[in-house]
Amino acid sequence: MTTYRSKEEMRDGFEVYDDRFKEMLPEGARLEKHFTGTRWAEGPVYFSDGDYVVWSDIPNDRMMKWSASEGTSVFRQPAGYTNGNYLDREGRLVSCEHGNRRISRTEPDGTVVTLVDSYEGKKLNSPNDLVVKSDGTIWFTDPPYGILSDHEGHKAESELGACYVFRFDPATEELRIVGDDFDMPNGLCFSPDESVLYVGDTGEPRNIRRFDVVDGERIANGRVFAEVKPGAADGFRVDTAGNVFTSAWDGVQVYSPDGELLGKILVPEQRTANCVFGGPDKHRLYIASDKSLYSVVLNATGAQTP
Ligand code: MG
Repeated sequence: MTTYRSKEEMRDGFEVYDDRFKEMLPEGARLEKHFTGTRWAEGPVYFSDGDYVVWSDIPNDRMMKWSASEGTSVFRQPAGYTNGNYLDREGRLVSCEHGNRRISRTEPDGTVVTLVDSYEGKKLNSPNDLVVKSDGTIWFTDPPYGILSDHEGHKAESELGACYVFRFDPATEELRIVGDDFDMPNGLCFSPDESVLYVGDTGEPRNIRRFDVVDGERIANGRVFAEVKPGAADGFRVDTAGNVFTSAWDGVQVYSPDGELLGKILVPEQRTANCVFGGPDKHRLYIASDKSLYSVVLNATGAQTP
């Protein structure tokens, strides 16, 4: 992925392809920039208790924190080259770490513990993104981006020799493969009722597929949901209506539950990586994009809990 976008291509604004997206834009909607200075921003997670966002700056091996009242600070460094982050149902931070090739959890006292780092005795590649289901299980993707070079982790060979989507149950410590037909599985997200799992592939073919969730623990009937261009779907979230807000190189693209492109939130950076709904009412979409953190208030409500 060596293509760079020109200055003319890097712009903000909104592109409306469908009235459903127009209705998501409040009067005077605008993209706000909160911080610039990361090398590659990823994995935003919102803490309602304190009204702040934490996100990863992977090549700098640090996590950042931003709030309207206190601005930006370093949340953790070194950070194990974290990528995707999520909160579990108890409000604890759960993170994908490229550097330690693990899923970690930050306990209330600040201790960072390993939840899982291997499958059948073989190290994970470099967990990329995760989601915590309402039953407490952690579903995550494991492409090799963190071990391909020392840029976003530590260069190493893959022990697994494949890139899976996993389901980990912290209660039983069982790690199970739920998806094995991916090239580079990356972003993932459940539909609001958890009947569907969306998984982005940033390899080939480059798309988002949707799967039926069977018995709450398996996936089946994969079919292409969207081919996100330009770029790829690195990370995404859903609103309560089931619309999918996915990253792309030009910003955040919004798709209806049946895969129709409704509109775009353009972001003036090279590549947008991930997003998360936040704010007291979950109307504010925070966007981690290359060097910066942005947000935009929408007439849409994030479905994520907590
Ligand atoms: Mg990702």
